[in-house]
This record gives sequence, C-alpha cells and structure tokens, in this order.
Amino acid sequence: MTIKKLHQEFLTSSGICTDTRKIKKNCLFVALKGDNFNGNTFAAEAIKKGAYKVVIDESEYQNDQTILVKNGLIALQKLATFHRKQLKLPILSLTGSNGKTTTKELINVVLSKKFNTVATKGNLNNHIGVPLTLLSMTSETEFGIVEMGANHLHEIESLCQIAQPDYGYITNFGKAHLEGFGSMEGVVKGKSELYRYLESHSKTVFVNGNDTKQLELTKSLDQVVFNDTIIQLMDASNEVKVKFRNTEIQSKLVGLYNYANIAAAIAIGNYFNISEEHIKAAIESYIPQNNRSQRIEKAGHKILLDAYNANPTSMMAALENFKQAEGNNKILILGDMFEMGTEAEKEHQHIVAFLESNPFGKAYLLGSNFKKTNKKAAHIYTFESFDDFKKQIKVEDFKNCFFLIKGSRGMALERILDLL
Ligand code: ATP
Ligand code: MG
Repeated sequence: MTIKKLHQEFLTSSGICTDTRKIKKNCLFVALKGDNFNGNTFAAEAIKKGAYKVVIDESEYQNDQTILVKNGLIALQKLATFHRKQLKLPILSLTGSNGKTTTKELINVVLSKKFNTVATKGNLNNHIGVPLTLLSMTSETEFGIVEMGANHLHEIESLCQIAQPDYGYITNFGKAHLEGFGSMEGVVKGKSELYRYLESHSKTVFVNGNDTKQLELTKSLDQVVFNDTIIQLMDASNEVKVKFRNTEIQSKLVGLYNYANIAAAIAIGNYFNISEEHIKAAIESYIPQNNRSQRIEKAGHKILLDAYNANPTSMMAALENFKQAEGNNKILILGDMFEMGTEAEKEHQHIVAFLESNPFGKAYLLGSNFKKTNKKAAHIYTFESFDDFKKQIKVEDFKNCFFLIKGSRGMALERILDLL
C-alpha cells in the first residue's frame, strides 16, 4: 500500500494506537516490535477491541482488516512525515541534554496564547514518540512543538527527517547519555544534527546567546539570539523571577537552570508576536509536574523534589542551586546517575568531591555507584539501595528540614516522600 493510501486510512480512522491496552474505538492500530514484544501478535486483539484496521508487517497475521507493510515502524514514520507535509504548519523542534520537556511545556503555554498548538505529550520524544506527536496534529492545529531525545549519533538527524522542523532550539549540551554518545564531543555532534538540518533547509534557530558555544555553532544559520540583557534574571533564590522589557515575570519553577528555559520560551513567544502580558500570564501559570523541579511542603519540611532524572550536568546545577538557596537544616538525598558507561565511577566521585569541599548539609547517597565511591567526610552516608536507606531513615529524626531529592529515573526517589 502506498503512503498516500495509508494516509487515507489514517484520516478515516480515529487516530493511531500502538498499544492494545489503550485502544480507542476505530483507531488505526500499528503493530510495532520491541525487544520483548511483537505487535503483530496483538493484531486480532486490536480488532476485537474496536480498531478500525491494523497495520502489520508479518504476513501470517493477515486478515481482511489488516494492512500489510514491509516494516511497521518505518510505515509509521513515513505516514507521520506525509501527514506533517499535508498540514503545512510551522513546527519547532527542540533537543538538548537537559531541560527539553520543561522548555517544551513553557513554549507550549506561551504559544497557546495565540495558536492552536500540539506539543509532544510528556516525554514521547523518540523514533516512535515523534511520529505519534506529528500524527496527533490535525487540520485545526496551527503550531507544532516537538521534543526530540537522543542517546546516540544520527538519532536527531533521523527525527529531523521525520518532523521536518521550521524552527529549532537546543537547550544545552551536558553530560547525559555518555554511554551512547561516547564523549562530550559526541553529545555536541549528536545534538547539533538539529542545527545541520536547519542549516541545510534554510530554517531558523533560536539561540541562548549567553552560551558562547551555541552562538559559535549556529553562526552560519538564520539566528534569533536572546541573552541576559534582553531577558534579565531578577531572582533565583526561590522560584525564578525574570524581567522582559518592563514586565516582571514570576515563574513557579525552582532552580537557576530554569532561567534559560524560561528565557527561551519568552524569546520564542516574542518572535511570534505574543504580547508581554500574554507571555507573562502563560509563564506564571505553568506549574511543573512529574517530579521535575517541584517545591513541596510536607510534615514541616521544605522539599525540592527533582526525582525525574539526573546526570552530572543537571546534578551539579541542582547542587549549586541548593547551596545558594535560603533555608536551614539542609539535607541532600541523591540517587545514582544512570547511563554513564565508563564515566560512571569518575562522575559519581566528582559529586562526592564537590560535597566534601562544599559541606552545606548532610548527604545521603543512594545506589551502587555512590556506594563504590571513596569518601572521607563524616557528613556523607552511602547506601547500596533504596531499601537500605529506608531502614536508616526510620531511625533519623528529621525536623523542619530543607531537602534536595534528586536521582535518575530508575532510582524513583519520589518514594522518599512517603517516608518523611
Ligand atoms: P529527558 O532526557 O528525560 O527527556 P529533559 O531534557 O526533557 O529530560 P526535563 O525533564 O525538562 O529535561 O528536566 C529534567 C531535569 O534536568 C530537571 O529536573 C533539572 O534537574 C535539569 N534541568 C532542566 N533544565 C536544565 C538546564 N537548562 N540546564 C541544566 N539542567 C537542567
Ligand atoms: Mg524530556
């Protein structure tokens, strides 16, 4: 079947589904293969649950409601690109090591003041998530905001081929996914694939001008630069406050690193002629979710919960921020940083060294990587696992403390909230 015909089937359906547990009536079910599952084997179930038709790539599952293609994933991606081209709407893509989702959400609330937007849901930012995001856009959509994640080279390049963005933004280059990228140069090269795409298609890039590396990397592109003279930082000791022209904007985001994320959203809103009042209202209304930079009060404690993810760059940013934050009885509960490959030992040791030379609070470090580090300071405690820490926390008598909780997703440190 041609992509054009498949697109007709898609338009007839109620939308794409790839998981039989979440079937929508009359959807177009696309069978995908993962390491542990084969979507083709769910074809019959999808139809039984109300799918309109099922796209499969193994002929043995064929019946009168299936559409056989060579490769389900590639069909999904090609369909998404075809759909995106038909819609002819502007798309802004963003990538980077940290802050993609936060920045995407901020851009979305700002652009929503003027456009009917569709943005990546949650963290659906990979080779499946990007096509699904594009396919959730309709003829009513006026602007698309697409988050792109990558943990190895050529991934952003292929996501750009799929989404064909008109605008781009890279949040930062940090020490994330070193395992797949090999090194920091690998990270820069991998993320910069977005710049290469924009350059070769004469598209526009938004650039944080305070980052000299980004300025340099984009100098041959059509740049829209913003910096700290255009958007000033007023306060980062609590929730970040900025000033844009004469308008003060008080966000609900904690952490100095969010200044860049907020500034990007303001600059992009301004570029698309959204008024200062609307930009202000949008950013002030945005409340972070999913354990990302949340500020919580519980049982007399103040808690900065940033348990969504961690890598050396975001960990150091959070520590620097916490060091400067106003508050007494500071306590750190940090979890292992995953996907560090051969850098794991060095990077965990680096965090411990920072905590030893900056003793601004007791530190509880959880996970086998932290457990392996050498530590001399008496205020640092390490635990092999969450369960080991759980036993310790029962004997501690925390009163009116100010906690920073941060670790990789797999550590699920939000579980600590139930213990306090
Ligand atoms: P993922 O790779 O999981 O999709 P992401 O890039 O979407 O992550 P967010 O979910 O927005 O990033 O934020 C994750 C964490 O990264 C935050 O909780 C914060 O600790 C840190 N962070 C956010 N923005 C920045 C930034 N601009 N620079 C450095 N660290 C940041
Ligand atoms: Mg994300």
